[in-house]
Amino acid sequence: MSLCMPEPDAGVLARRGDIVAALRAIVPGDGVIDHADALRPYESDALTAYRQPPMVVVLPQTVEQVAAILRWCHANRVKVVPRGAGTSLSGGALPLADGVLMGMARFNRILDIDYADRLAVVQPGVTNLAITRAVEDAGFYYAPDPSSQIACTIGGNIAENSGGVHCLKYGLTTNNVLGVELVTIEGEILRLGGRGLEAQGLDLLGVVVGSEGLLGVVTEVTVRLLPKPETARALLIGFPTVESGGKCVADVIAAGIIPAGMEMMDQPAVHAAEAFVNVGYPLDVAALLIVELDGPAAECSHLIDEVEAIALANGAVSIRISTDDAERAAFWAGRKAAFPAAGRLAPDYLCMDGTIPRRCLPEVLTRMRALSERHGLGVINVFHAGDGNLHPLILYDANQPGQLATAEAFGADILRLCVEVGGVLTGEHGVGVEKRDLMPLMFSPADLAQQSHVKSAFDPELLLNPGKVFPLLHRCAELGAMHVHNGKLPFPDLPRF
Ligand SMILES: Cc1cc2nc3c(=O)[nH]c(=O)nc-3n(C[C@H](O)[C@H](O)[C@H](O)COP(=O)(O)OP(=O)(O)OC[C@H]3O[C@@H](n4cnc5c(N)ncnc54)[C@H](O)[C@@H]3O)c2cc1C
Repeated sequence: MSLCMPEPDAGVLARRGDIVAALRAIVPGDGVIDHADALRPYESDALTAYRQPPMVVVLPQTVEQVAAILRWCHANRVKVVPRGAGTSLSGGALPLADGVLMGMARFNRILDIDYADRLAVVQPGVTNLAITRAVEDAGFYYAPDPSSQIACTIGGNIAENSGGVHCLKYGLTTNNVLGVELVTIEGEILRLGGRGLEAQGLDLLGVVVGSEGLLGVVTEVTVRLLPKPETARALLIGFPTVESGGKCVADVIAAGIIPAGMEMMDQPAVHAAEAFVNVGYPLDVAALLIVELDGPAAECSHLIDEVEAIALANGAVSIRISTDDAERAAFWAGRKAAFPAAGRLAPDYLCMDGTIPRRCLPEVLTRMRALSERHGLGVINVFHAGDGNLHPLILYDANQPGQLATAEAFGADILRLCVEVGGVLTGEHGVGVEKRDLMPLMFSPADLAQQSHVKSAFDPELLLNPGKVFPLLHRCAELGAMHVHNGKLPFPDLPRF
């Protein structure tokens, strides 16, 4: 592993037998896994470049068990890493050698569906798609739709503040969650938010959404349900240059149109996707844009005409408009298969996630091509163009010595570029371990200190998911973002993992 994690605590490792026995006393039966072979499936999440088997896995089934485990771990100074389905792309669920991995897979029930109030109460291990499946016959759905929605859990979505194609119009997880039940490391059971839009006191729900498993373990979630739109139609638009595609995206938003989704692919991504799904994508375009409009049929038709006119004004060379749901699904099929399609181009790929102002799209793509040449690795680009969220897929071969390190350096350069043009380090995949050491690019020591004070308010001993999000201090110094003078560290109250 090229990444630096906190040194395992030899004292904790020496107590492994006692820790396993204590967990078994709380979760009887097969809910505690300690055999080396059985721990293997948990050694990684979707950032598969990093692997570390946990000390032990525990699979609680009730909130009382979660509270008892956390209380015991707190009293005995044992670290805990929460885990949903393990699809994090930023290493958020990467285990620790001296930590308990708390898998939430057994919290898999939908507890309540209330159409009158348009909400559902679910356990955190329920998959994102299962919520929509449970309510679609009644004409409802849960809006945030990560591409991983068939597998990822709503608990993981909350921790990462996950997004998807439709979040441009309907908001991210944070805009679609009304309340959570959260267990702190001290075993306290808190209720944040509720069943209504307004909650009393500080917006602690807003703090918890996107907190990457660092503040507590989510044991229940109340989500908003939306009525399914009457109609949805999509345009597939080809552009001769990335610049013209980027300008079209900006002009659509500037015209006051908020599409349900607006996604772009560069030429290498179009070729890879078309070879994978054969849906008739034009191969001679430099950029392909998919714009989906939804709502009442008349409004949809009107907006389709407006977007078509904007596309033509920006030099679009091909435009197809879906005539039925099957054709609309075909437009999306290539975009949704872009990740597996990249898997055919190289043995491995690193999926980056940065966000930039929309107007910087052409500049960033041009400079990314130069970075690709400098690092000697290919890259294909798919992005949530409407909100400026880039997902460059860096192609490499982990079996070639040094290529993982080169891919990581290339990825870090892309994220530096995003920040340089006024963007941010992450759009929806979180910081995790992947972007942890780049945090000083965006946040001053004072910013980081304030954020870590929030962490300490929930978890003073820093036992929940340590080594994630906050840069390890020596790396800050290496990056030149924190000046260490005469061995005296500024902000001595920053947590040292
Ligand atoms: C092919 C693919 C496509 C993807 N597409 C998208 C996309 O379009 N949009 C997007 O936003 N993401 C996407 N992702 C990333 C990933 O699916 C999301 O980040 C997802 O929310 C992770 O959910 P999970 O259940 O797998 O969580 P995990 O990976 O298990 O954990 C993620 C984080 O959540 C924490 N956590 C999990 N459960 C809890 C809990 N109950 N309480 C507290 N903390 C918890 C963990 O500690 C960790 O920090 C994609 C991933 C893959 C592999």
